Amino acid sequence: MKTAKGIFFLWVLCGLGACTPRALLTAHPPETTRQTETRQLDVAPAEPKTISMLAVGDNLYHASMIREGEEGDYASAYAELRPLIEAADIAFVNQETLLAGKAFGFSGYPRFNSPQKLGQALAEVGFNVINHATNHVLDKGEKALLATMDFWDTFPHITVLGIHRSPEARSQPKLLKKNNITVGFLSYTYGTNGFPLPADKPHLVSLIDTEIMAREIEALRPLCDFLVVSMHWGEEYVHEPSEEQKKLATFLAAQQVDVLIGHHPHVIQPMEYIQRPDGKWMLCFYSLGNFISAQVRAPRMLGAMAYLKIEEGAGEERFVLLEAGAIPLVTHYEKEFVGFKVYPLYAYTEALADQHRMNQQKKELTLDYLQSLASKVFGDKEIKHNPFAP
Ligand SMILES: [Zn+2]
Repeated sequence: MKTAKGIFFLWVLCGLGACTPRALLTAHPPETTRQTETRQLDVAPAEPKTISMLAVGDNLYHASMIREGEEGDYASAYAELRPLIEAADIAFVNQETLLAGKAFGFSGYPRFNSPQKLGQALAEVGFNVINHATNHVLDKGEKALLATMDFWDTFPHITVLGIHRSPEARSQPKLLKKNNITVGFLSYTYGTNGFPLPADKPHLVSLIDTEIMAREIEALRPLCDFLVVSMHWGEEYVHEPSEEQKKLATFLAAQQVDVLIGHHPHVIQPMEYIQRPDGKWMLCFYSLGNFISAQVRAPRMLGAMAYLKIEEGAGEERFVLLEAGAIPLVTHYEKEFVGFKVYPLYAYTEALADQHRMNQQKKELTLDYLQSLASKVFGDKEIKHNPFAP
């Protein structure tokens, strides 16, 4: 394999489909090498080096959410998740809508442009990887896309994915490094809602194109220990991955991708491990659903946060995926579309559900409904606690 480092995922057990992230953690065998390194009693054993990552789906700002944000603030919608986002080394969000500024007019569906204060809030709560390769990225034309890039330029610590000013900018590797572990990112969208890319600027948005993807992955793969590919894809409102998604996932596994983060269907789809031709495994989250939105059907209220923790092991098999799973999330709002807030499902209560706008006429968004849907889709890969808590 061309990659410099062998990446060994400790999910051989999981490949059999039977382990939860907790089980993964306890199944992690004591590493003899580490024990050998600590044989001198006067030397304290080194802490294992780890890097943690979370990812959430569509941050989809409708007009009612803009109204509420402008009257109050944007960060409070994320307050319940802030401790997790702040604790993660890498926090990824799929920013579904443009942040082009007031000059382009703020708008919700169908051609979105959200206030830049929303972007400031994402940065404030701790997101550091923002994806813009979505079907809405050309909603307000090329100038609005460039203005969105200008906005993010004012946050040098944030990595923006999927949109590029020039071919040179596009070929610059997107890497995040911590504790000697380097994570690389690429991102693609299936399309741009019929708004074509300018003929002379195909570099502006990363579109799904297996030839280009293979080339870009080949260039990035040797530069990182762990490769994450974000995919805006799939059929809206469908809980099962499409044949096209499965085909592309197989293709990405063949390119030695380590983790695939999927979004766009607005509902959750399963996560699974796909074996790569080199015998290792790619972790695939087919769809994380909505992060937050003002959509109105019950299945769209349940999103998910992908969680994973990578540890530097010993020897040639240097990197181990120590824990991985999906934390279901609930989009909460009340009365006439106010009080927008995302909750982890493990912290959501029947009393909150009673307040949800979805339950004003008849109660359909029960805790039981949400829990059943989460376990139906994620099975034993669902995480029901804060994995960052000590
Ligand atoms: Zn989308």
